[in-house]
Amino acid sequence: MVKLKQASDLTGCNIYGKAEYTNPGESVKDRAALFIVQDAINRKLISKGGTIVEGTAGNTGIGLALVCKEYDLKLKIVIPKTQSKEKKEKLKELGAELIEVEAVPYSDPNNYIKQSKKIAEDLNKNNKNGAYWANQFDNTINTDAHIKTTAREIWIQTAGKIDAFTCAVGTGGTLSGVSLGLKEKNKNIKIALSDPMGSSLYSYIKYKKLENTGNSITEGIGTGRITKNFEKALVDTAFQTNDTEALNIVYDLIKTQKIILGGSSGINIAGAIKLGKEMGPGKTIVTILCDHGKRYASKIFNKDFLKSKNLPIPSWL
Ligand code: PMP
Repeated sequence: MVKLKQASDLTGCNIYGKAEYTNPGESVKDRAALFIVQDAINRKLISKGGTIVEGTAGNTGIGLALVCKEYDLKLKIVIPKTQSKEKKEKLKELGAELIEVEAVPYSDPNNYIKQSKKIAEDLNKNNKNGAYWANQFDNTINTDAHIKTTAREIWIQTAGKIDAFTCAVGTGGTLSGVSLGLKEKNKNIKIALSDPMGSSLYSYIKYKKLENTGNSITEGIGTGRITKNFEKALVDTAFQTNDTEALNIVYDLIKTQKIILGGSSGINIAGAIKLGKEMGPGKTIVTILCDHGKRYASKIFNKDFLKSKNLPIPSWL
């Protein structure tokens, strides 16, 4: 974990980020990828030479690619075209077969998640080593991975002196697993959702309604539905953050601490600052530094892209 100096100074709290960009696949999704594949192998749903299929915004695919290499499995990834070219290139480099599809909502039968399920079902009909749909959104092994690893590590690394945790939701595995794992240790630990614009979960936590306004260029987070993983999360409160706020945090962190992160980490840190301001000074708050910024070089570190989206451009870019 890394102490986030500016966020801590602004709130008088000790705000820490769990440095998930240091995982082998450089994102928080390595954890779900490892647990999902190991579970499928243990349940004999797949064996050496079989194929894992998944719909992913990229990071889960990268995690799965590393795990599949280890277990001699093939990997087919269905990815929305809108995702960064850096993530797509990394997936190909790691040997995954990439199927790029239009980015359409979950309600559309051509949504990337639904297409990945269909591909796995078709492939399973005549693959003797099995084809397995990882199903990160609704496979709750994802949550288990974070109960058994992320929550446990946060508890140990803060020596149990933690008052609150916050992060954004893609599948919901991180927020659910960490909330369940930490509240089992101490039910008074406050759990907050950090939501980007365009996601419906903020309104769901605040007003029990799935509604959204605005949009976000952040990748891997924000959703319009309650997944089986998010369903399990124990959430006390929620904050919403726009891209300008999040990106300014990402850019400041490069200057002040030489840490280069993707946009979802900016949303998380913004949420931790809002939570710290609400809770008052002296509290220990943990959030997730989800992935490395180099994965978005062509977007959040590209002047033309930022200009086209009316987003802040740091003076040093
Ligand atoms: N940030 C990034 C960059 C991600 O790729 C993801 C996963 N989609 C998340 C945050 C959210 O993690 P989770 O799926 O556990 O909710």
